[in-house]
Amino acid sequence: MRTVKYMWPLIACLILCMTLLCGCALIQKDYQSYEMYSMDTIMSWKVWDASDSSIHEDLKSIILEAEQMLSVTNQNSEASNMNRESGTPFEASDALAGIIKRSLTFAEETDGALNVALYPILRAWGFTTENYSVPGQEYLQELLPYTDWTRIQVEGNLVTMQDGMALDFGAVGKGYVTDVCVDLLKEKGITSARLDLGGNIYTLGTKKDGTLWNIGVKMPFETNNELAGILKIQDTAVVTSGNYQRYFEQDGKLYHHIFDSKTGYPADNGLYSVTILSQDAFEADALSTAYFVMGQEAAEEDWRQRGGIEVIWITSDYKIYYTEGLKDCFTVTEGLDSEMVIR
Ligand code: ADP
Ligand code: MG
Repeated sequence: MRTVKYMWPLIACLILCMTLLCGCALIQKDYQSYEMYSMDTIMSWKVWDASDSSIHEDLKSIILEAEQMLSVTNQNSEASNMNRESGTPFEASDALAGIIKRSLTFAEETDGALNVALYPILRAWGFTTENYSVPGQEYLQELLPYTDWTRIQVEGNLVTMQDGMALDFGAVGKGYVTDVCVDLLKEKGITSARLDLGGNIYTLGTKKDGTLWNIGVKMPFETNNELAGILKIQDTAVVTSGNYQRYFEQDGKLYHHIFDSKTGYPADNGLYSVTILSQDAFEADALSTAYFVMGQEAAEEDWRQRGGIEVIWITSDYKIYYTEGLKDCFTVTEGLDSEMVIR
């Protein structure tokens, strides 16, 4: 009798385990995910209800092609070939000419806060080779004329710039490639996907069950992935530029990777990060960099005129400002200091 009494919990346990195992076997993954390293960062995505895995090959080719076009560390890329020939007109591909034209429009609109001609300055600081050092002020002054984006002309696909100038697409490349990937997914009839191309997020459609995606906005410099808040969104790119993403320290001072082309020094406007939401990932990428350089006041002014985008600023005293369009879809983490910006 005693053994039977002790057998019951064992049998119950066995039944529970079997139920769980059967349950797991029945739950089939209805999405396909993929991860790769490209453009100096991790690119990953999840796609729901794709008819076969060829979707990964297609997305992978788009990303590798964009890298082969834009990478300035690859000496054989189209951008490197163009930079080497600065001073003589360069016949660019449709895609590259298009990227340069759009970048110049954003440069114009942001008074050069977005400046794809900053490469000579990035090189001087070692941000291209990770061989970092603080350049002398005189040297930076010598280089600044070579970063004058108004001296770039694009006629048709013919790109002309002054000898010694060089372009870098770090601020817009991931946004560009996100848009191309999203176009392909739409073409293939995909209605639910989430892309994370080096921190540039795109949510296509809603989640499979029709609910909105939850996207966390990181708190700068927090090592345990603490969030400033959570966005509930669909069909939107979310792109963040921040001083905490890439930097080096010298003599106790932090030097980050987003530069003010008026000074040649890392932008220093009391901001730790700027996040942009837009249906256009290129715009989100270009403006997150530009708004970070411009500082909050000038960026607010631009936002008031622009339309179609929402913005989250995190200041160096960890205060969170967000635009009014986010009122119902951005939940700031409890206990943090925040304020809504209105038009
Ligand atoms: P990340 O690529 O790190 O997510 P950004 O989109 O803001 O962040 O791009 C930063 C990169 O853009 C830098 O690494 C550099 O290559 C380039 N860059 C830095 N400052 C500027 C600027 N003011 N305008 C255009 N490109 C810039
Ligand atoms: Mg950017």
